[in-house]
Amino acid sequence: MSRPRFRIGSGYDFHVLVADRPLILGGVHIPYEKGLQGHSDADALLHAVADALLGAAGLSDIGSYFPDSDPRYKDISSLLLLEKVYRLVRGKGLVVGNVDITVIAEQPRIRPHVEAMKANIARVLYLSPDQIGIKATTMESRGVIGRGEGIAVHAVALLEVVE
Ligand code: MG
Repeated sequence: MSRPRFRIGSGYDFHVLVADRPLILGGVHIPYEKGLQGHSDADALLHAVADALLGAAGLSDIGSYFPDSDPRYKDISSLLLLEKVYRLVRGKGLVVGNVDITVIAEQPRIRPHVEAMKANIARVLYLSPDQIGIKATTMESRGVIGRGEGIAVHAVALLEVVE
């Protein structure tokens, strides 16, 4: 049986927006009246990317590598978690081809921060920014996200076998 040259993975994350937390998405601190709640910095965008990479590599999910019961990961930058995930992926003989991300948020506006987010992800995953897509949409004021109670992120990653 031949081994595939490419492997695709998908990731999804959702965090609740609360007062008195910084809003960190894609490793960027976005000025806003609320931030995402979580054990780490709650960067739902990077968590979705990490799960897409782990899924494509046939590995377990981000929660099993970085449990929220572990004090080492309290308020940790998710860029550091993504670095660790990248090393796991490389350890399986895989490199990242491209990553495509959709942020679903009613507020704040994501687009002004997309280039900075791409630069962060490109640095950690050894990509050029044009290997990363980041799009944003809303829920048109409907539902939990539409009421501004949280932010969801979908990500898809393509890995290439290089060993
Ligand atoms: Mg998360």
